[in-house]
Amino acid sequence: MTIELHPIRAPQFTVVSHGARAWAVADAMGVIVQGSVTRFRQVAMRRRDELQREDDRKARRGERPCMCCGAVFASQGIHNRLCPHCRIRATALPEAARPQLPRGGRA
Ligand SMILES: [Zn+2]
Repeated sequence: MTIELHPIRAPQFTVVSHGARAWAVADAMGVIVQGSVTRFRQVAMRRRDELQREDDRKARRGERPCMCCGAVFASQGIHNRLCPHCRIRATALPEAARPQLPRGGRA
């Protein structure tokens, strides 16, 4: 089965005005990305999209089937493998129903 990851439009990068007549791309912290200042907003928007695609690819964000129920959901990265519904269900289990790891080292 091939799973194609589609990028999620998480607002990691944004186009911001830079001075009176320039545009730039800022990262999630609001820091201007080096080399992104341009006079043209369209150029800044293309650069933002490129940076976002690269960041999504590195973080492996995208649609992914849930490990529990198989429903496809918008995963925030390789660490995020349970859909929101199953994640809530898992944390809502009483202590006795949660899987127990062996104590005192390896099994
Ligand atoms: Zn699920």
